[in-house]
Amino acid sequence: MPPTSSVWLKPAAERSLARRHPWVFSGAVTRVEGSPEAGDTVLVKGADGTSLGWAAYSPASRIRARMWTFDPAETVTPSFVAARAGAAAARRSALLAGGLTDSARLVFSEADGVPGLVADRYGDTIVCQLTAVGADAWREVLADALFALPGVECVYERSDADVREREGLQARVGLMRGRAPSPTLVANEGGFRFAVEVEGGHKTGFYLDQRDARAAVAQWAPGRRVLNVFSYTGAFSVIAARAGAAAITSIDSSGPALAVAARNATLNGVDIGELVEADAFTALRGLRDRAKQYDLILLDPPKLANSEQQLDKASRAYKDLNLLAAKLLAPGGVLMTWSCSGAMTMDLFQKVVAGAALDARRELRIIGRLHQPSDHPVPLSFPEAEYLKGLILEAE
Ligand code: SAH
Repeated sequence: MPPTSSVWLKPAAERSLARRHPWVFSGAVTRVEGSPEAGDTVLVKGADGTSLGWAAYSPASRIRARMWTFDPAETVTPSFVAARAGAAAARRSALLAGGLTDSARLVFSEADGVPGLVADRYGDTIVCQLTAVGADAWREVLADALFALPGVECVYERSDADVREREGLQARVGLMRGRAPSPTLVANEGGFRFAVEVEGGHKTGFYLDQRDARAAVAQWAPGRRVLNVFSYTGAFSVIAARAGAAAITSIDSSGPALAVAARNATLNGVDIGELVEADAFTALRGLRDRAKQYDLILLDPPKLANSEQQLDKASRAYKDLNLLAAKLLAPGGVLMTWSCSGAMTMDLFQKVVAGAALDARRELRIIGRLHQPSDHPVPLSFPEAEYLKGLILEAE
């Protein structure tokens, strides 16, 4: 065993840990004892030397350490780490056994006590992302733990997310355990089949986090002219088609994503109408200039703010999009609009959309709110886990 390294904190940072917030920022550290390497487990100590728990050390990141445990008497061993992943997966068993879906996020990083590990299960396949050095240091243990789950045939890594750079990690993509992922892998959800692009898709291949929203789309789509902006692989369009939408237009800047949308339509035996490969901002302006009208508009842009510093710029982009959408809404139309930027709170998002409606001279009423689903939990001690929020708005 190498000697224990420790990280000493300022008193203010101790208060944050007392509230069980799992991040130690670089500015909170007064000194580091020993010479810990990236990903090593370090003892976190208060200003007076009291042991506060164990954390994964990350010398390159602004988040200098991520807590594994607030109990100094625990030891962070392979079985500790594997048990964390196993417990997180077990918490999804009711969802997966419920018959609605065979696909769920099994592990959601800090929200499940495994900082830096996201693991999404699609049937017999698990796709994971290791986004912090702490989790990366335990990659083999975590891969084994995931592969040991009942019915799992494949564990694939998609650690190509930009956030790895902030942790000083290189992108890493490839098979971790079992057989290669099936090129025809699907997520079975609510009687639908959605293609999962394990190797070439966004994130882990499918947007599990919009599961609850898919049910809402089914509720509002019947008989409506639907505009699905930022459609990705057309999940909302397929839902709308099955629900009996009058017409559907899907817009995305990614040709490959739209090709999969066409495949999803076939997989589900529905006609999803028009697929438009275009920049959404430009396409929406074009539709506005042609005085087009829609009864249901879905606006699900990618993350526009990566940090609080980008909030102003992102707010302008969200406003622009929502202003255009408000203008395109037919009388009585419904707009579902989202922000998946963690830095943007529901409160701020609502203000931005209110500003957009005002400028568009439309009276919009909130008739519902949308959130990330139950397999993307938000610990009360870690509100940063909440990133996806949406509004359902009805026009006069
Ligand atoms: N609603 C989708 C997920 C959307 S993800 C679902 O439920 O599956 C965001 C999408 O926006 C991605 O498919 C990406 O290709 C697309 N995108 C990013 N920037 C864009 C732009 N400027 N114009 C159009 N689409 C864009």
